Amino acid sequence: MLTRAPGFLYKNGELYCEGVSLASLAKKFATPLYVYATTAIRERFALLDRAFRGVKHTLCYSVKANSNLSILRFLAQLGAGFDIVSGGELERVRLASKPSLKGIVFSGVGKTAEEMTLALKSGILLFNIESEGELDLLARCAAALRKHADIAFRVNPDVPAETHPYISTGLREHKFGVPISAARRLYQIAAAHPYLRVAGVSLHIGSQITDVAPFRLALERAVELVEQLATDGHKIRFLDAGGGLGISYNRNHPEDYAALARRYAEAVTVPLRKLKRNRPHLLLEPGRFIVAQAGALVTRVLYRKENGTKRFTIVDAAMNDLLRPSLYGARHEVVPVDLRVNESARSQSDICGPICETGDFLARDVPLPVVAPGSLLCVYDAGAYGMSLASNYNTRPRAAEVLIDGRRARMVRRREQLKDMLRPEVDCL
Ligand SMILES: *Cc1c(COP(=O)(O)O)cnc(C)c1O
Repeated sequence: MLTRAPGFLYKNGELYCEGVSLASLAKKFATPLYVYATTAIRERFALLDRAFRGVKHTLCYSVKANSNLSILRFLAQLGAGFDIVSGGELERVRLASKPSLKGIVFSGVGKTAEEMTLALKSGILLFNIESEGELDLLARCAAALRKHADIAFRVNPDVPAETHPYISTGLREHKFGVPISAARRLYQIAAAHPYLRVAGVSLHIGSQITDVAPFRLALERAVELVEQLATDGHKIRFLDAGGGLGISYNRNHPEDYAALARRYAEAVTVPLRKLKRNRPHLLLEPGRFIVAQAGALVTRVLYRKENGTKRFTIVDAAMNDLLRPSLYGARHEVVPVDLRVNESARSQSDICGPICETGDFLARDVPLPVVAPGSLLCVYDAGAYGMSLASNYNTRPRAAEVLIDGRRARMVRRREQLKDMLRPEVDCL
């Protein structure tokens, strides 16, 4: 049983990422600091890849989970394609790995003409279309460039997924996709456009889903649609099952990730195998599953305070660095980096940042030993939707990021400086 990805472990009471102590990283690169373990990324990618080995597939890593260029390049080297949701993410893939442009699927409900044109010129694999209006615009952009676009509709299978309401996407009332009942008509319209090629069926039902039943239900509906589309004369070469496979953020609920990957693969491939002839190539868009547990946020304690019976530990990382607790009520495990100087009895404390918002907390009611100002804490499982959701709120520079490979620590994003933040305004004074 692996509670978390390999990479973070205590040696003689000191927390390490692979072969490097977090204390030494904090000393060298300062805090708050995002630390990523390459071993963990490689392992999770391999677990998924292996689980799907029985079917032709491509893992299109979802760039928005963690869009650091060095991480994208590392994933490209592992053989990943990419799932993007903006022109900015497309440029990230281009910078990280130019050959990977042809392995891009482009999702999102609000693609602009500029973004479509950029993607057409870049020769991406597939456009996931989410409305009839978007289809029209893509047809016009493609015609103007005289370039063909391969398209899939992102269909909404209307299955509920047990997850936070903000990250559930596969229900009728959500803004995403087109109703699966309207799909056949839309595919006919698409097929009539000279510069559009019907190529796939796509779906994505939500995020942080660990019960695989909703995936199976969604795939059954998608496979049924693929069969109908085949009888309508369309050639469906790709079935894009989206992302959304979750992780356990709680040490008390450990997860066997190899087994979870296998259950997930079974839920997706059992319906797919019903297609005997012309079985489409499977695309998957995992984000969180690959990078969440590979990352941690290292932060330094600034103050301890007590208001009545409530204990607070004020640290130098805040909601602008890691928004998930404030936005989703997400729970991250927080542990001391050095157990040797922190062996006192544990008591409950809220871990809060310096931002002027009551909602600025990294964790609540954490059983923590007395950690003196200056001590380091580690917020686990922060590799996905951590840095990619970071902001400059309260005019706070965004953290630095380091990528660890064995004993080697490489800074893959330098700490932002005040002048980086202010330049766009200073230029206008
Ligand atoms: C966010 C997103 C993903 C990735 O979701 P995870 O939960 O990180 O796996 C995949 N596809 C689409 C369309 C998304 O919006």
